[in-house]
Amino acid sequence: MKKEFVIIGAGLVGSLLSIYLVKRGHNVKIYERRSDMREAKMIAGRSINLALSDRGIKALEQIGIMDEIKEIAIPMHGRSIHNGDGTLAYQAYGDDGQFINSVSRGELNKKLMTLAEDKGVEILFNHTCEKIDWKKNIISFKNETAEIKVHADLIFGSDGAFSAARLNYQLQNDRFQYQQHYIDFGYKELTIPAGENGSFQMEKNALHIWPRGNFMLIALPNIDGSFTCTLFFPYEGDPSFASLKTKEEVMHFFEKTFADTVPLIPTLAEDFFNNPTASLVTVKCFPWVLEDKFALIGDAAHAIVPFFGQGMNCGFEDCLVLNDLIDKHADDWITILQEYQQLRKPDGDAIAELALNNFIEMRDKVGDPSFLLQKKIETAFSKKYPEKWKPAYAQVTFSPQIRYSQALKSSIVQEKIMQQIMALPDIENNWQTEAVEEKMLSLLAVK
Ligand code: FAD
Repeated sequence: MKKEFVIIGAGLVGSLLSIYLVKRGHNVKIYERRSDMREAKMIAGRSINLALSDRGIKALEQIGIMDEIKEIAIPMHGRSIHNGDGTLAYQAYGDDGQFINSVSRGELNKKLMTLAEDKGVEILFNHTCEKIDWKKNIISFKNETAEIKVHADLIFGSDGAFSAARLNYQLQNDRFQYQQHYIDFGYKELTIPAGENGSFQMEKNALHIWPRGNFMLIALPNIDGSFTCTLFFPYEGDPSFASLKTKEEVMHFFEKTFADTVPLIPTLAEDFFNNPTASLVTVKCFPWVLEDKFALIGDAAHAIVPFFGQGMNCGFEDCLVLNDLIDKHADDWITILQEYQQLRKPDGDAIAELALNNFIEMRDKVGDPSFLLQKKIETAFSKKYPEKWKPAYAQVTFSPQIRYSQALKSSIVQEKIMQQIMALPDIENNWQTEAVEEKMLSLLAVK
């Protein structure tokens, strides 16, 4: 039966969801707070590019738009580690040619909005959701001149980490669970411009990481030859955003800490102070749905820190799961939404935890010889026993058939086993022996 859907927020997830729904013949409108980004100029320091991986790709493929997205994606086959001593190391994401993709968030969002409109979705810009009347399912939006009231059969809140739809739900419904947690680190974007004739000044097909213990810099390639760098850095302490107060201090710090980036970022000190510092939050809430009238999706339901590169991928997977449930339950939206939140809440919680854990891996461990040995042992074992062991990174990033909650469980088991293996005497020299392999098999058997 044809329904009137209103989606709040034309970000990545809202735009994708609208395509899924309109393709089923429903009437779909998106109300978006911002003006149309296809007509606006990019704001400096807000050029985020994202890692798109298999879960997100599966959702884009399912509705047949991955070919268009490929045009704006750069494959990254591994991590290029920039060590503190100036040496470079390369860690492939997998032996089977696996890769993740660097995509500009803005370009991806624009493309999704255009595809949505081409398929019949109406997007109304400059409309801010202010209030929802849950009894009548009427949403109040404010635009530049007036307040507009809109009725919908079903409302989706895809308005991001600071969702107004979620807040309205929380304020008007008893026993709504809500939890937010800011980490003590913020992030700042910097840009390595393209070299001559749009050339890349570093390896193009890699995610670059400068792990420095308590903090890190990363860089992802853009199709114009530039790299967007993101500094994940403490707010307080030494060094921190608070401790670097002058341009001289910034230059001195970068020369000492990220020396190879200094000649590549000509406007480093200016950009450091001109570009905003943004915070990093995890949001958990429950319930995500109300009867057959309302559902939260994407960051509005589960905002996570970006260290596993999964926020958008997880939101895209929400759309995919919802679509499968529509196939399963047809027009029974009460069942569809109930099952959607039952399936996705544990997975949202799991990826939130995995993402927090991965910060320590990226900023600290990827440069640590003992961690690298551990990864080598895991890779060799998993090659020999693929049905017994798939590394957690591969489960999350390259295995959409494995749920995030399952990946979290097995990552905990694997980590416990590896701690015992790494504690074996002279493991650096013995790791390829049969005894170590037997030990891993026996530890796995008791888990
Ligand atoms: P958003 O993209 O936030 O979109 C929400 C939309 O709602 C916006 O357009 C907003 O204007 C609109 N809106 C807000 N309030 C209202 C209102 N009251 N009324 C109407 N409209 C409203 N994810 C990955 O998968 N891979 C990565 O590599 C990755 N890297 C990241 C790096 C950083 C530094 C950050 C911060 C995030 C990263 N993410 C990554 C996460 C990813 O950006 C988010 O998960 C994704 O953008 C969520 O999409 P969304 O549509 O749910 O929310």
